[in-house]
Amino acid sequence: MITYPFTYRRAKSIAEAEAMLKAAPEGKLLSGGQTLIAAMKMRLANPPELIDISGIKELDYIRVANGAVAIGAATTHWEVATSADVAKAIPALAHLASLIGDPAVRHKGTIGGSVANNDPAADYPSAVLALGATVKTNRRSIAADDFFTGMFSTALEENEIVTEISFPIPEKAAYKKFPNPASRYAMVGVFAARTKNGVRVAVTGAAPCVFRVPEMEAALAKNFTPDAVANIKVGADGMNSDIHGSAEYRAHLVTVMAKRAVAEAA
Ligand SMILES: Cc1cc2nc3c(=O)[nH]c(=O)nc-3n(C[C@H](O)[C@H](O)[C@H](O)COP(=O)(O)OP(=O)(O)OC[C@H]3O[C@@H](n4cnc5c(N)ncnc54)[C@H](O)[C@@H]3O)c2cc1C
Repeated sequence: MITYPFTYRRAKSIAEAEAMLKAAPEGKLLSGGQTLIAAMKMRLANPPELIDISGIKELDYIRVANGAVAIGAATTHWEVATSADVAKAIPALAHLASLIGDPAVRHKGTIGGSVANNDPAADYPSAVLALGATVKTNRRSIAADDFFTGMFSTALEENEIVTEISFPIPEKAAYKKFPNPASRYAMVGVFAARTKNGVRVAVTGAAPCVFRVPEMEAALAKNFTPDAVANIKVGADGMNSDIHGSAEYRAHLVTVMAKRAVAEAA
């Protein structure tokens, strides 16, 4: 059997994680491990050093202040799903977290790991984009519109650590997902939000990267009802196509899930 040895280190603070990363140029951050450990088991990743940030207390919090919900990067999906503060301020966000994977995934997986990983079928990226959130790192703040750059790719630089996601509280919002029955990942998920700065609609699962639908946003800005988006179709070109569903099927689902999200939000 081929083995791939690696060193495991546990950081107690952001400063310690930064120092460990500096000393291990090929090292990788480990948060909930729900993606990285699976990738290592399948030999898709082979980092010589793992720097575990899941126990860093200064990364595990939910704070509601100044019209925003700020969530530390090491906060688990379960903590977001069951937070009374999140449920009160942005119920759609708590609901989204409750739909991720299964109880084991929700108890270990973290918001920072999910956003940094930017899986095309992950749920959180749609909330980050639709709510116009800010991704904070150990170096800077990145607007949602600039953060997700492609499949499994983000604006994060080498060794940059996501520390917090700050979500402005919307007037109305809802998330509707058509889950893959096996993994629970989104075949298509639509997050629709009306904020004081306008309407934003973000789609995950359908394409290689989360994206907004400007035609739907313009129609909803005039009339925030399901009817306003009922006849707006997105093209199948560039949509994901696999054994779970064709590009055309996913394109069709975008309109269906958008209508449902708006109906729930409205
Ligand atoms: C069976 C199963 C079902 C799932 N279903 C869903 C689903 O329905 N919806 C969904 O959205 N997700 C789903 N997931 C993924 C899950 O949400 C993971 O928690 C998430 O993708 C990664 O978070 P993590 O904390 O586990 O990160 P890890 O696996 O620890 O790390 C993932 C990547 O992010 C990097 N990273 C981690 N934290 C940071 C940070 N703070 N700053 C910078 N980089 C960082 C790591 O180096 C690594 O490259 C599922 C996973 C499994 C195993």
